[in-house]
Amino acid sequence: MAVVLFSWGEKIEGGAAEALTLAADLAAGRGLELRWAVTAELEREAAALAALHGVRHVDVIDVSPQGVDARVAVLAGYCRAQMPELVLFNQTVEGRVVAARVAGRLGLPVLANVVALAGAEGGLKAEVSAYGGDTRAEYLLTAPRNVLSVVTTALAARKAATACEVEISRVAVDAGAATPGFELVSAPQVPEQRLEDAEIIVSGGRGLGKRENFELVKQMADALGGMWGGSRAIVDDGWIDSSHQVGLTGKITRPGLYIAVGISGASQHMAGCSAAKTIVAINKDPDAAIFRYARYGVVGDCVELLPELIRAARA
Ligand SMILES: Cc1cc2nc3c(=O)[nH]c(=O)nc-3n(C[C@H](O)[C@H](O)[C@H](O)COP(=O)(O)OP(=O)(O)OC[C@H]3O[C@@H](n4cnc5c(N)ncnc54)[C@H](O)[C@@H]3O)c2cc1C
Repeated sequence: MAVVLFSWGEKIEGGAAEALTLAADLAAGRGLELRWAVTAELEREAAALAALHGVRHVDVIDVSPQGVDARVAVLAGYCRAQMPELVLFNQTVEGRVVAARVAGRLGLPVLANVVALAGAEGGLKAEVSAYGGDTRAEYLLTAPRNVLSVVTTALAARKAATACEVEISRVAVDAGAATPGFELVSAPQVPEQRLEDAEIIVSGGRGLGKRENFELVKQMADALGGMWGGSRAIVDDGWIDSSHQVGLTGKITRPGLYIAVGISGASQHMAGCSAAKTIVAINKDPDAAIFRYARYGVVGDCVELLPELIRAARA
């Protein structure tokens, strides 16, 4: 019996390393083998990443299925042949759909939005994010086999101390003929670099006053060679897209430098950046909560200060 994580497509999707870390911990805890099953075009990339993260078995499925329906058929075919105890999906837009349909084909229970997993008496304990991330629910999975879709933004990836040998197995899958049922016509743009991996982040909040002033945050991030993010308040106000939100219900980041501009420092925001090595805060309120977390703080008007800082950073 094994734990299997699936990846497919032209390149390995962001979050795969975090999902592998979760899968490796679970497999080790339950004395199961961890297998990473990837489609043919990902073989090289997967072998390199698997070695870094201590994953010893990569199954290369000998086909490159195109489209959701073909992928469901292929991954279900793999599961019928290999009978893994636990089937994990990195919860991308497509991963969530594929997970549910693979589970349906196999007649197995499926759980989405999983943020934590652990062995428990009588089965597996899964924590899932619910109501758009506002709360969490806990499930005890008592079935012998399960399909889970994992949200990786809340997880940390862990590299092995030394790279391991990776055994590559080629697996032929008879998927049968897939009848297309639907196709994905639009999905959010995923930036090349993920906020979760950024070394420098400049984040803006409502203290910037108006949407146009957010340009200053982007310019500051650019001048420092970093990425930009923001608080939920300005996502809700429509200044920036939710894919840039930092916090409990956004991205969990761990940069070397996090510059918080006009951000109050609410606990839900700090859940996404308090692991930064150095936090710098600019806030006009000397009692703002953000100063409790900041190593360096500037009490002042961010709209006045940012142009000066951008000039200095560019110099
Ligand atoms: C279930 C739940 C989940 C949540 N998840 C998240 C999340 O993932 N991420 C997140 O960010 N929030 C989240 N929130 C919201 C969070 O509680 C805060 O409301 C939000 O972070 C506040 O954003 P803000 O700091 O930009 O705005 P505000 O709270 O309005 O703070 C603005 C700050 O700017 C300062 N300021 C004002 N003018 C200036 C100026 N000219 N110069 C400098 N400083 C100035 C003010 O002193 C203030 O400290 C969540 C809330 C709930 C209930």
